[in-house]
Amino acid sequence: MKIKTKEMASLLISSMSAVAAVAVMFALRQPWLPTLCVGLGVFAFISVTALVIIRQYVAYKLKPIYSIVLSRNVHTQEIRSELKDKHVEQVSDEIEAWAATNDKEIARLKETETFRKQYLGNVAHELKTPIFNIQGYISTLLDGGLEDDLINRKYLERAEKSIDRLINIVSDLDTIAKLESDMLGMQKEQFDIVALTKEIADQMEMAAARRKITIMVKGADNLPSPFWVLADKHYIGQVLVNLVDNAIRYGKENGVARVKFRDMLDRILVEVTDDGVGIAREDIPRIFERFYRVDKSRSREQGGTGLGLAIVKHIIEGHGEKISVRSELGEGTTFSFSLPKVALKDIK
Ligand code: ADP
Repeated sequence: MKIKTKEMASLLISSMSAVAAVAVMFALRQPWLPTLCVGLGVFAFISVTALVIIRQYVAYKLKPIYSIVLSRNVHTQEIRSELKDKHVEQVSDEIEAWAATNDKEIARLKETETFRKQYLGNVAHELKTPIFNIQGYISTLLDGGLEDDLINRKYLERAEKSIDRLINIVSDLDTIAKLESDMLGMQKEQFDIVALTKEIADQMEMAAARRKITIMVKGADNLPSPFWVLADKHYIGQVLVNLVDNAIRYGKENGVARVKFRDMLDRILVEVTDDGVGIAREDIPRIFERFYRVDKSRSREQGGTGLGLAIVKHIIEGHGEKISVRSELGEGTTFSFSLPKVALKDIK
């Protein structure tokens, strides 16, 4: 027989005790009425006493487990009232569920820890190269290079390039840190995404011209257009800068970087397309990871930090929206993201 509850256990003990008491009364040849009374009395007394003792014992045994589960010192009395209407099996289910949640949490923490270690390692590695380069150029200049007109200017310019690289990495790391700690602090406002994109395209014209690339922004001419969005203008500006910058850096010379807008009822879809090197299918799922680069030397040579797309994804997802990418090797790449649209009647 399986004893599942404290009540069942106490009933069993009291019944056995009553039977034993009745047997003793029979052996002593007592009349049936006192025998019945003694039997009932023993049954009642033992069932109540046994129940109290069993409850106390179970609570005492569970005390260390409850103290671990609740991470504090638990009083036996508290456990007794908690267990009042519970089967022991229910307690065991609850503790198993607690252990499973804890296992999941530990696995998540381990994953975060591995990620943190990798991230720190990557940051150190990324910073090391420009720092060592600067050290090398300065040492050479101090060891006599300063007086050598053939190299002094060249080495200073190279040191400056490495410093620019350091500044870019630190500034991108700073943005990521801010995004991680301040995602809810986004300042959403209504603005015209086409006008913002045109401003950004103007600022990036020089960089595009260096690679003989034309930036084309295709919006509606009859502004205020249907392209008003509700988002953090500063951060969305950064998304556009990063995507257009990539379209220039990975676009082909004499090519075109296009930004198009699509009206999707309650959303605006923004697409940034280039006709450059493209991204291999197996690399696509990884390009949004921090410091992941398909072609490391090309990225560094072009001043890339490997953090641009990680920042873009963070910002878009922080708006509760999605970013996706389509690409064909040698043909070009399109990044598209959505933003909540503001209806014309709601524009303030
Ligand atoms: P990076 O600073 O290296 O450009 P990103 O995070 O912006 O870092 O991009 C990650 C990687 O994704 C790049 O190194 C590059 O290999 C690839 N990539 C990003 N944008 C494009 C694009 N428009 N065309 C081809 N490859 C791209």
